[in-house]
Amino acid sequence: MAEALEAMPDDWTRALAVVAHPDDLEYGTAAAIARWTGEGREISYLLATRGEAGIDILDPAEAAPLREREQRASAAVVGVTSVEFLGHRDGVIEYGTVLRRDIAAAIRRHRPELLITINHRDTWGGTYWNTPDHRAVGRAVLDAAADAGNRWIFPELTADGLAPWNGVRWVAVSGSSSPTHSVGVDDTHLEAAVRSLLEHRTYIEALTDQDPEEYCRDFVAQVTSSSGGRAAVSFELFTR
Ligand SMILES: [Zn+2]
Repeated sequence: MAEALEAMPDDWTRALAVVAHPDDLEYGTAAAIARWTGEGREISYLLATRGEAGIDILDPAEAAPLREREQRASAAVVGVTSVEFLGHRDGVIEYGTVLRRDIAAAIRRHRPELLITINHRDTWGGTYWNTPDHRAVGRAVLDAAADAGNRWIFPELTADGLAPWNGVRWVAVSGSSSPTHSVGVDDTHLEAAVRSLLEHRTYIEALTDQDPEEYCRDFVAQVTSSSGGRAAVSFELFTR
């Protein structure tokens, strides 16, 4: 399938990845992140929540700092050292102006050419329903790309010293059932992606009885496989 997709643009130097939860970027996207940071590009992560509602057997007060630590470790594996958390409440993120403003502020601080997020659509394809947090954050990222460039939409950001940034050229959505572009990844990137996902160890151990490393390896292999045999990460690319 990836062979029919266009190549992801590579004339950019800074990207900001914005997702709802710790682990959202590690289910495949991290292989592309590993390639891009290896090429010398600068990538930052912005998490809307600390993922505190993600582990059934852990109270949110305990889960939040643990998942934040796991996310920072996971980012470091693929060369990302800037990891910020907005502190929205896990599971009940509300799409709206508060979320759009928070993301627009981060875009103005980081000044990326590329935004990365995960599936904003209702389903993962077919009838496999997506979560409300992913839908809310994905849609807000697509909207905030324009918000960040308009000085009159959130004038309080300008008053806070955050000048408008209208330099976002693309928003790349991973996990979409309608991918348009892809980026090839090699064994080094895949191994980094497996290690990156494996850093969410507490989460994964609570999620599955399968051996954690085997689980990560299987998942990364599955989402990066293409009919041509060459591993790739695919995205639905929105151009601005
Ligand atoms: Zn998620």
